[in-house]
Amino acid sequence: MTDLVLEITPGIPIPSFMTGEVQSKLAYVDEQIVSAKVAPDGSQIIIYLKPTAVEDDQARIIARVQDVVALMVKGVIQPKVQILEDYQDRPVPSKVDPMQELLDKGEVSMEGRGIYTLGPLVTRLIDYFEKCFVELADFFSAVPYRFPTLISAKYLDRVNYFRAFPHSLSFVTHLREDLDNIDHFAQSTHWEGDGLNANPDSFSRIENLISPAVCYHWYFALADQKLKSDHLVATAVGTCFRYESSNLTTLERLWNFTMREIIFIGHGDYVLEQREIGRQRMTKILEEFGLAYRVESANDPFFVGEFRKQAAFQSAFQLKYEIRASLPFSGKTLAVGSYNYHQDFFGRNLNINLPDGSPIHTGCIAFGLERLAYAFLSQYGLDIKQWPAAVREGMQ
Ligand code: ATP
Ligand code: ZN
Repeated sequence: MTDLVLEITPGIPIPSFMTGEVQSKLAYVDEQIVSAKVAPDGSQIIIYLKPTAVEDDQARIIARVQDVVALMVKGVIQPKVQILEDYQDRPVPSKVDPMQELLDKGEVSMEGRGIYTLGPLVTRLIDYFEKCFVELADFFSAVPYRFPTLISAKYLDRVNYFRAFPHSLSFVTHLREDLDNIDHFAQSTHWEGDGLNANPDSFSRIENLISPAVCYHWYFALADQKLKSDHLVATAVGTCFRYESSNLTTLERLWNFTMREIIFIGHGDYVLEQREIGRQRMTKILEEFGLAYRVESANDPFFVGEFRKQAAFQSAFQLKYEIRASLPFSGKTLAVGSYNYHQDFFGRNLNINLPDGSPIHTGCIAFGLERLAYAFLSQYGLDIKQWPAAVREGMQ
């Protein structure tokens, strides 16, 4: 057994605007990989392997890494990043990563990779953010929904989710209904260091997953219907699950997180107009939060084979904008929310039509609640006296 570090020169140089995208996908290339780093100038890739990796694994991993680079980078065109708002210069008092202090104070405790319990201070802060988002939803007369945590594989298939985001899926299974099987599981199953020792054959086929997003549930509920109204607005908060492999770190990137969404259905011009009104109202709300951030065009984290085409499409049609909060301790930014327009994608794939027979267009405004709290605490620290007055007062 060896402890290996691979240094790979990519066959095609990785342009600097793609280094983050490629790096995040390298985590999924091989089970022997612990983590992967792409140099900021894209000239080199460093792969850290598990101590169990043997030398024979190297050639396979190098070939796969080169394949990923080729698929994602070859012929890629740098998207024009459109910046709609820039408040990154907003003065904030803290420059420290709050994670250690949150852990020390019991405000955050880690149950497993990407799974955290949040304590009273963070919970109250999130409740305050939620109050503001629900007020925004009320402005749109959004009707409230409660969506399930499980999501149907049948519907995810209808919207091509397995092709676009296979790497981040989390599956639900149960023991096959077979007395011997269940008895054997009950007698012999134990935690084995990194998982259960159960035989994979004892589990059922996959019928459901745990949900990766909120708005999908509303579209699934409306599948194969002709709507009675030309526009609808809903809001919901829900737990979402995205497996982020070795990219799971601090509260920045979770396996289990919470999203609040305001969701619009109607004709394309209606959805785009509501998304824009939402963005403008959010500018005032984010000012009250005192958040240093910018809003810029973005793309979803499509998997390797789908990335180039889909990301270019999203960028060309300005389908996604992200609210990227500054993290002063690292000089980087973190997406805490997004303004999305899906055109008639869900309308066509799920056969949902407006009263005039045309497929619905959809859009959503989505906030990642844990990330927003983490970005806020990175900028303001844990001492509430340092926080903006509107946040302190709003939390009471
Ligand atoms: P779309 O409508 O395009 O499918 P969406 O509604 O799924 O988008 P995203 O933009 O994918 O929304 O995610 C919304 C927000 O959820 C992100 O801006 C981020 O704050 C949060 N988020 C996403 N992934 C994670 C994660 N792994 N950990 C924590 N928060 C996350
Ligand atoms: Zn959404």
